[in-house]
Amino acid sequence: MRAPPSLWWSTLDSPVTARPALQRHLDVDVAIVGGGFTGLWTARELKRRDPDLRICVLEKSVCGFGASGRNGGWTSALFPLSDQILVNRYGMDRFTHQRHVLERSVVELGESARDDGIDAHFTQGGTMVVARNEVQAHRLRESVEESRQLGFAESDLAWLEKNEADQRATLTNSLGATYTPHCARIHPARLVRGLSDVDESLGVEIFENTHVTRILPGTRGRQPEVVTVGGSVHADFVVRATEGYTPTLPGERRTVVPFYSLMIATEPLPDSFWDEVGFAHYETFADDRRLIIYGQRTKDNRFAFGGRGASYHFGSTVEERFDSDRRVFSMLEAILRELFPTMGGSISHRWGGPLAMPRDQMPSVLVNYNTGMASAGGYTGDGVVLSRVASIALADLLTSPDTETDFTRLPFVQHHSRRWEVEPLRWLGINSAIRLATMADRTELRRGVDGRASKWYERLASADSDSKTEPSPEA
Ligand SMILES: Cc1cc2nc3c(=O)[nH]c(=O)nc-3n(C[C@H](O)[C@H](O)[C@H](O)COP(=O)(O)OP(=O)(O)OC[C@H]3O[C@@H](n4cnc5c(N)ncnc54)[C@H](O)[C@@H]3O)c2cc1C
Repeated sequence: MRAPPSLWWSTLDSPVTARPALQRHLDVDVAIVGGGFTGLWTARELKRRDPDLRICVLEKSVCGFGASGRNGGWTSALFPLSDQILVNRYGMDRFTHQRHVLERSVVELGESARDDGIDAHFTQGGTMVVARNEVQAHRLRESVEESRQLGFAESDLAWLEKNEADQRATLTNSLGATYTPHCARIHPARLVRGLSDVDESLGVEIFENTHVTRILPGTRGRQPEVVTVGGSVHADFVVRATEGYTPTLPGERRTVVPFYSLMIATEPLPDSFWDEVGFAHYETFADDRRLIIYGQRTKDNRFAFGGRGASYHFGSTVEERFDSDRRVFSMLEAILRELFPTMGGSISHRWGGPLAMPRDQMPSVLVNYNTGMASAGGYTGDGVVLSRVASIALADLLTSPDTETDFTRLPFVQHHSRRWEVEPLRWLGINSAIRLATMADRTELRRGVDGRASKWYERLASADSDSKTEPSPEA
């Protein structure tokens, strides 16, 4: 096992020791493949509903090895698709219901972790998205107006004039910012490792260094089966919770694309710096460029800062060497220093990892009662809260199939996304979208408020699907 070289991993209270691998045959009620937030929250929620359930988690490395132990720690109510698309597709009532579930889930995630005795450094300071050129200011102001029409109050999303924004945090070239309280920052590795300990204490059997090579759906009279390098498992239900790694499983190559997001962290920065730039309430932050960036002030007073820009790899390949990209790391450092020119100090950590993007950018929670196959994922860059919500929905579906709950009513439950195109179309389409986003940012900076760049970008972005081409405001 090679621990991911993230800030989060290296600031855990104690080193991670892998649990034993599966070396035999096992019979359980629910077998979960993948020890990230989705797999571990699902086990937690199943045990809450029925403590006697026999559950195992099979993790190819160690719990938290994937995106759950490496992310930006934005615990937000964001969703990969825009509000307007959701309203058009599902109607105002279902949109509003989902919005409220996600907003409540930000708070609930913190409470659930605290009740389980996990100190994940959860602090709900909200999010600022700063406008750093006229086009961004125009777009952000419009987004606030649009949100009013969709029922958001000033207390959900507000426009802050420059002086108000600067009181929260001072970023260079700020022209104002939007502010929402519906986001907390966390230390993700503390949460995911804490969760694995909680699950284990409840009787969930966790096998690490256990690579699942095949998942065989059940048929009439035969349970589904999970095959690993050292053993196998029969279960009533198998939950696939492999997110960005999904394309590495047989038959799943085109289910989602693995999209790489990369991060850097600074050394702890002095109090004098924080007195100058703010973030007194630990607001998470971004600006409104197309090629997403995201940051947080950590509990130990560093910046953890990430962004997109890494290329998609032909054939949806997932390899550890893609977790690093010198060009993207340099770009992130340059952006961070441009945002905060007095920052000083050096970059202490650089890392990255794959997240999963479905073709229509709609996450999904799926249970097939005929085959015993279940899955949850496709959260793009918003998986911290979405994995919690998806796990609750999944536990409800598995334990009470005939009862509708607030979670099973969500539009992405039992939603099937279509598969991605075959190569080389996938490679061409995705990498062109990344290029276009970069070009749009440059043009917006150059041309200013006439918005010409926005217009050509919007047209291209909506040409194929009715979703945003550059995925969701996080990660
Ligand atoms: C750099 C980065 C920054 C991000 N920032 C944010 C953010 O700030 N906010 C936010 O909401 N979201 C963010 N995300 C997304 C978020 O982290 C993920 O959506 C979420 O963690 C997904 O959790 P998961 O459990 O579904 O998947 P993962 O955490 O990826 O877990 C999947 C697990 O499955 C295991 N696995 C895979 N294949 C097999 C196999 N064959 N056999 C056994 N085990 C297997 C993997 O080892 C892995 O541990 C970010 C993602 C990245 C990569």
